[in-house]
Amino acid sequence: MKRKSFFTLACALILNVFFVNAQSSGQHYAGKIIDMHEHIALNDGEQHNMSAERNNTVKDILANISNGHLAKAAIITMAQKGQMDQTRLRNDSVIHLSQLYNSLIPICSVHPMDGAEALAEMERVQKLGVKIIKLHPNSQQFDVSSPDVAAIAKKAGELKMILLFDSYNPVDVNEDGKLIMLAITHPDARFIFAHMGMVNFPQFITLVGLDKYPWYKKNMWFDLSAIAPILGDSPFRDQLVWTIRKIGVQQFLFGSDFPMFDPPSTIKSIYKMKFTKKEEAQIFYTNACNLLQIRP
Ligand SMILES: [Zn+2]
Repeated sequence: MKRKSFFTLACALILNVFFVNAQSSGQHYAGKIIDMHEHIALNDGEQHNMSAERNNTVKDILANISNGHLAKAAIITMAQKGQMDQTRLRNDSVIHLSQLYNSLIPICSVHPMDGAEALAEMERVQKLGVKIIKLHPNSQQFDVSSPDVAAIAKKAGELKMILLFDSYNPVDVNEDGKLIMLAITHPDARFIFAHMGMVNFPQFITLVGLDKYPWYKKNMWFDLSAIAPILGDSPFRDQLVWTIRKIGVQQFLFGSDFPMFDPPSTIKSIYKMKFTKKEEAQIFYTNACNLLQIRP
């Protein structure tokens, strides 16, 4: 009798575990993921610049992929003003790594105030297959409305490149409006606004109005790095998800901002936003494939 009830209990437990696993694995998208936002340390001195918890050498980034969380990761470098030799060297390093490992997508950088040299560098890296240029108004210390930035956007349009902008600047509350204007006035360039403006995300609801105009080219995308782990499970969640759906889920990309956040916890934070499984598939994978013309 005792043996029989133990057997029944064990069976019930096994079935229960099976059912819970089946339920949780079926609840969310579990296919390929492209992380559109990982910072890479290109030399030893940089390893602890962005995170006290995690290193971000190429080894660490490749580990994120081999751990099974990601299919591809975009690796970002950042240019400093007046250091063109370093800018070229760093861009070459990122390109070289992407040639060594086809799971890495190169994101190069220029500084807008390097003028003609920055534009020439964009041409050079584009010829080497680079599609995305990273710009960070706050840490590179430039104003998005300056003519130097407009020149970069014009060049990106000519070269069919994408500009990945950090879109949260605590010292320029008008920055998201400036980014929207930059995108509107450079319809041939494409833009990714990283972090979706963070606490200023409601500003981007403007895009719903823009959609009404026949001339609007839908050239703005967003990555959910930082904003998903910070606001995705907060009292702002419903507003955030509503805003994303209003703009159109097809414009949103997954990014972890590694090493500040790690991919597994950022993936979980997207799950907590309660998108449908179909929307998760778009955010985690197919939107990036469409933007970068990667065959899924
Ligand atoms: Zn970042």
